[in-house]
Amino acid sequence: MVGAEHSKGWEQAVANRGFDLFVIGAGSGGVRAARFSAQRGARVAVAEDRYLGGTCVNVGCVPKKLFVYASHFRDELADATRGFGWSVGSVDFDWPTLRDNKSQEIERLGGIYAGLLSDAKVRHVEGRATLVDPHTVEVDGKRYSAEHILVATGSWPTVPEIPGRELAITSNEVFHLETLPSKVLVVGGGYIAVEFTGIFHGLGVDVTQLYRGPLFLRGFDDDVRTHLAEQIRSKGIDLRFETNVTAIEKHGHVLRATLTDGSTLDADQILFATGRHPNSSNLGLEALGVELAADGAIEVDEYSRSSVPSIWAIGDVTNRINLTPVAIHEGVCLSETLFNDNPRAPNHENVPAAVFSQPPIGTVGLSEANARSRFGDVDVYLSSFRALKHTLTGAAERTLMKLVVDRASDRVVGLHMVGPEAGEIVQGFAVAIKAGASKADFDATIGIHPTSAEEFVTMRTPVER
Ligand SMILES: Cc1cc2nc3c(=O)[nH]c(=O)nc-3n(C[C@H](O)[C@H](O)[C@H](O)COP(=O)(O)OP(=O)(O)OC[C@H]3O[C@@H](n4cnc5c(N)ncnc54)[C@H](O)[C@@H]3O)c2cc1C
Repeated sequence: MVGAEHSKGWEQAVANRGFDLFVIGAGSGGVRAARFSAQRGARVAVAEDRYLGGTCVNVGCVPKKLFVYASHFRDELADATRGFGWSVGSVDFDWPTLRDNKSQEIERLGGIYAGLLSDAKVRHVEGRATLVDPHTVEVDGKRYSAEHILVATGSWPTVPEIPGRELAITSNEVFHLETLPSKVLVVGGGYIAVEFTGIFHGLGVDVTQLYRGPLFLRGFDDDVRTHLAEQIRSKGIDLRFETNVTAIEKHGHVLRATLTDGSTLDADQILFATGRHPNSSNLGLEALGVELAADGAIEVDEYSRSSVPSIWAIGDVTNRINLTPVAIHEGVCLSETLFNDNPRAPNHENVPAAVFSQPPIGTVGLSEANARSRFGDVDVYLSSFRALKHTLTGAAERTLMKLVVDRASDRVVGLHMVGPEAGEIVQGFAVAIKAGASKADFDATIGIHPTSAEEFVTMRTPVER
């Protein structure tokens, strides 16, 4: 009865005054902003036209990581038999089982998101939303007024304008393939391209990865980039730089890619992981005077407010740091700013990140190059070694660990790793980096033996550069 009364009062308030916050996009950032704002007493609605949970849950982090797990088993089985005395009968991999188990889990998560929104009394409006004026949103012909509008529409894969582009797939389709291809061409040099190269290779697919620049993973530390390229090649993957696709043709079941050097390459699937752009077009933003950057990102101030005071934006559509935990953090800050009388600007310093390549990367803080340009004199501690496990497996894989230290303050300003469990290890060290730990603090920390992680607290001699 109390619930029903509350609900009646809430509906009446909405009918009289509209929503306090209307969120466009129920992805990582939008859901968090909507829930937290509603929990602080705001009347909130969220429109979603595709899938609750957004990119991360449906076609991003979560299904990707499940595929990464699946792709590890081949190497693990080989390691077990090569070095640790196991014998394994014939092994086989069934793609539909993995794909469908993954889809079932994603469906379950979609239900959880729906529950989270309804528990928080956020009204879920299904359909594509556009902005009509600074306080009005339209979904399927119905108009909703709101004091504040939050655009959290994410980003979308960018596909190069080449003949035959429609024959290729993007990360949107790769999670639903009917059959596992036997030969894949991955085009791109960002983390998504690198991750799918590892996934397909691990599942037994013949993979070629092309990147148009001299070295992939722009923005990451150079030693990390070079080391990962070596590791990928040492697994027998055909990784080519300074190469791109200029056209795709279909010949029977085969896709034939023409490359920049004039040669051709045949594959069953071609995956374009060639970047993403902010999902800001056809929302009505320009007509309202919302300023967009050249790449379509919504320009926002430090509190995520756009050039129109009642319109705010968070997550990938603002193209700041395009990661789920960052979108969530921006959503939390926004709800504090708007509904808790506590203006809070998101902090984008020292955001840790992982690339689930094989081996994976973990990183926090500055690359050596960025640290040098910010601080001048830096000391670099670098270690490359074969992990203990591989002394028995014979695998050639090597782990890389690197610390970048500002010489003047002794602060560790960059910490990077390429090796098993890099994401898990660096998440812990990220707390130390965020807290401003010095190299002396690292030296004073006793290692956990035998681990790879202990290397971070036992490196003593800077490399000559
Ligand atoms: C393959 C892949 C792997 C990734 N892996 C990782 C990872 O390992 N770790 C990590 O941190 N990040 C990862 N990311 C990035 C992460 O998914 C994004 O940074 C995150 O989802 C951004 O959240 P968001 O709220 O800005 O947008 P999204 O989560 O994309 O949500 C936007 C939502 O808005 C909806 N929408 C758009 N327009 C409208 C409209 N007009 N009306 C109604 N609804 C609309 C969309 O349907 C979508 O659901 C990955 C991304 C991809 C593509």
